Amino acid sequence: MIDEKQFVKIKWGMKHKTYYVNNGFEFTKTGDEFLVPLNQTHDGYAGDVVVHCDFCKEERVIKKSRYDESIKKYGKYYCSHCSQQHTIEERRKSHYNRCL
Ligand SMILES: [Zn+2]
Repeated sequence: MIDEKQFVKIKWGMKHKTYYVNNGFEFTKTGDEFLVPLNQTHDGYAGDVVVHCDFCKEERVIKKSRYDESIKKYGKYYCSHCSQQHTIEERRKSHYNRCL
């Protein structure tokens, strides 16, 4: 799971400057970092986020894009260890079903 209210670091750059200025953030200078609540980041934010594995509850720092991928695939976030376990489990299940 992911805490949408956690703050992430964004660097001021040309790409998303307008978006953040329009959202009430004060522009300092290009390259400066500032903190943004995750749920207010620009579309496609792919930087680091703190997440908790939905299985073992362990805290991890991963790229947002990886988290999104996992949600798309499993509907949940599994850390690398648990996703391996999960894949084995799924494979075993589908194998079992085929043998019925
Ligand atoms: Zn895990």
